[in-house]
Amino acid sequence: MQKIVHIIGAGISGLAAAVRLANANYSVRLHEATQVAGGRCRSYFDAATNLTIDNGNHLLLSGNRAAVAYARAIGTEAGLVGPKRAQFPFVDLTTGQRWQLDLGDSRLPLWLFDEARRVPDTGLLDYLALLPLIWAGRSKLVGDAIRCEGTLYQRLVQPLLLAALNVDPPEGSAGLAGAVVRETLLAGGQACRPLIAREGLSAVLVEPAIKLLRDLGASIQFGHEVREFGMSGTSVGELKFGGDTVAIAPDDAVVMAVPPRPAASLLPGLKTPSKFRAIVNAHFRFDPPRDMPPITGVVGGTVEWLFAFPQRLSVTVSNADRLVELPREELAQTIWRDVCKAAGVQGELPPWQIVRERRATFEATPEQNALRPGASTAHKNLFLAGDWTDTGLPATIEGSVRSGARAADLVLARPQR
Ligand SMILES: Cc1cc2nc3c(=O)[nH]c(=O)nc-3n(C[C@H](O)[C@H](O)[C@H](O)COP(=O)(O)OP(=O)(O)OC[C@H]3O[C@@H](n4cnc5c(N)ncnc54)[C@H](O)[C@@H]3O)c2cc1C
Repeated sequence: MQKIVHIIGAGISGLAAAVRLANANYSVRLHEATQVAGGRCRSYFDAATNLTIDNGNHLLLSGNRAAVAYARAIGTEAGLVGPKRAQFPFVDLTTGQRWQLDLGDSRLPLWLFDEARRVPDTGLLDYLALLPLIWAGRSKLVGDAIRCEGTLYQRLVQPLLLAALNVDPPEGSAGLAGAVVRETLLAGGQACRPLIAREGLSAVLVEPAIKLLRDLGASIQFGHEVREFGMSGTSVGELKFGGDTVAIAPDDAVVMAVPPRPAASLLPGLKTPSKFRAIVNAHFRFDPPRDMPPITGVVGGTVEWLFAFPQRLSVTVSNADRLVELPREELAQTIWRDVCKAAGVQGELPPWQIVRERRATFEATPEQNALRPGASTAHKNLFLAGDWTDTGLPATIEGSVRSGARAADLVLARPQR
């Protein structure tokens, strides 16, 4: 008989677990509280710009091996597009200076030894000074591990770690920052090619997974929020939804792939991160100049990363709690001024949309990192997934996919009665 697994939450972590288990011949029952899949990684039609936009610009790197493998498993690896070489154009809005970081296409960080490919006005020793991040312990702050000032910091380390950790880097976890540096900068250009779901997050990372799951016979229920677990000894015996209750047989498994707050309310006593940071995205309906690179790093302004999509210029600002309460029109104007300088374009404010994700990620500080649980629980048939579980990475798609895969592996490894 086919084994049954209930997966709660159709974000990337839940989908990754579901795809792995459906491929392993499990009967997958996916329950999603909202009417759409994707969670914090999704697309929708926006009337203000008359375009389909993503809730946030999501950048993957070619070294995000679990995320790329997930895309391959759902048949959309080709939908993650990026340049052949790991090149990152940057602009400093205060000076107007432009440069390109060229990490090349090697498996080793050979770019460090070539002055022309490094950040301008930096030397090899500046990069060697980052090494303490690599072996930093979990309780250490980035600011205690490396010097958070100087040209290399301003032009590369700060933008990279701010994007990865979603906190001001000095207050971030050096352990998490070290994992990012090990898996990207230190792994050479081949691991650093920027990849974007150009056709949209849902089209590339979400809808094909739902289709594959349906093709494999999974049941997927939207608007099906788990409100409570009924316990049976040391196992979950029931999933209680608003109207209905589903019985869980002793051999059935449950993967809870919801964010920390609902996880803590479903499982009282569960330790979870409790502090979060916002990410703000701005989208402008505007045809990018033809030669504009898909991603530009921006320093010295409000904008941090500028993305060029067909018919749209789009901006990400991380650690953005300070922007969340600002009047939207004022924010759009401020960001548009930065966009004009960075993209070298002019014009009145075009149709725009601001998306403020207040709890975009958990706060990647040592204190919050220490609150992340593993995938196993005290309940024999209940496993956890989500970017906030203890993946060793900050809250990212890569971490979500790894967490889903790990929960699925634990389900597969369960001894059968
Ligand atoms: C604006 C923004 C920009 C980002 N940029 C990047 C980036 O550039 N690169 C990158 O790698 N990552 C980025 N991230 C992070 C990435 O989006 C997340 O790490 C990832 O999407 C989290 O997936 P998840 O499955 O862990 O959680 P979620 O996406 O939160 O999914 C959880 C799901 O569970 C559902 N749920 C909740 N409670 C219940 C319940 N009781 N019953 C049933 N269902 C329930 C929710 O509705 C949701 O669908 C960004 C995030 C945001 C918000």
